[in-house]
Amino acid sequence: MTRNGLIIGRFQPFHNGHMEVLRKIFAECDHVIIGIGSAQYSHTDKDPFTAGERYHMIAEALRSEGYANYYIVPIEDLNRYSVWVSQVKSMCPPFQVVYSNNPYTRRLFFEAGYEVRDSPLYNRSEYSGTEVRRRIREGCEWEHLVPDAVAKVIRECGGVNRITELGETDEYRW
Ligand code: ATP
Ligand code: MG
Repeated sequence: MTRNGLIIGRFQPFHNGHMEVLRKIFAECDHVIIGIGSAQYSHTDKDPFTAGERYHMIAEALRSEGYANYYIVPIEDLNRYSVWVSQVKSMCPPFQVVYSNNPYTRRLFFEAGYEVRDSPLYNRSEYSGTEVRRRIREGCEWEHLVPDAVAKVIRECGGVNRITELGETDEYRW
């Protein structure tokens, strides 16, 4: 029986922790469905990259590792938890297993009858979108925390300047 696994993240940006989880899901499932959450957001501190840029990062990272059995699906937030599962279902190819550590995602998919699996956290102090964005903003080393293909996409779309400028303020700094 076909077993497809779903993982949803904002991927701001896609980093080595995400890549590790995907390797595990690829090993356990026939196809992987990667939902790009908060797809409508970009150009903010927390969500600097567009859904298209995130799509490009993930596709390039997976191409460089030779994976082809996946689908990438941008999904906008509805901010209405009761209809979140239907929203995700309506946008994605069929899936049977959901990988998540997020309590509300786990709860909602469990209540909808899906098998929900933990995804282990890898080197979470560094493999974190927040940490990668902080390092870029503060001019620290960040490339080693993301797949090479992702670093290239970020540089090519002007991501470093974008994140740095978004971190600036027009308020007086005390
Ligand atoms: P942010 O700090 O911006 O929230 P994040 O690193 O938490 O970024 P998300 O896109 O929010 O990344 O997470 C998507 C999914 O990836 C979540 O289910 C999260 O638990 C998982 N994930 C994030 N970092 C890691 C990691 N280092 N190891 C394993 N899973 C991770
Ligand atoms: Mg997160």
